[in-house]
Amino acid sequence: MPYADKLVEALWKSNHYQKTKKFRRRVKLLVFYLQGCAGTLTEKCKWQGRISHVSLQYDHRDGEIKKYDINRMDGHSIETIKKEMRKCDVVCANCHAVRTEQRRLRDAK
Ligand SMILES: [Zn+2]
Repeated sequence: MPYADKLVEALWKSNHYQKTKKFRRRVKLLVFYLQGCAGTLTEKCKWQGRISHVSLQYDHRDGEIKKYDINRMDGHSIETIKKEMRKCDVVCANCHAVRTEQRRLRDAK
């Protein structure tokens, strides 16, 4: 959200970050109890078995319509959040980047 006053913008961002911190932690912990990384689109994860929950992320599968960014779903019901999570694979940050690049290269053709 752009503000004319940079200071007001910085304050708003800091405030928003603090307000949503608890929610982001809870989402991360849910990830922690799920299975590890699903790997890239073509290969298994090279970090298999050595992944900390802090590096795990949600990646929307091909064909699923991304309605929300899960980390920004604070205030939604747990059912809506779970529904969105079911559209995703849990992947590590490295595989997430590779997947995004693979899709970008595939779709550019
Ligand atoms: Zn991975």
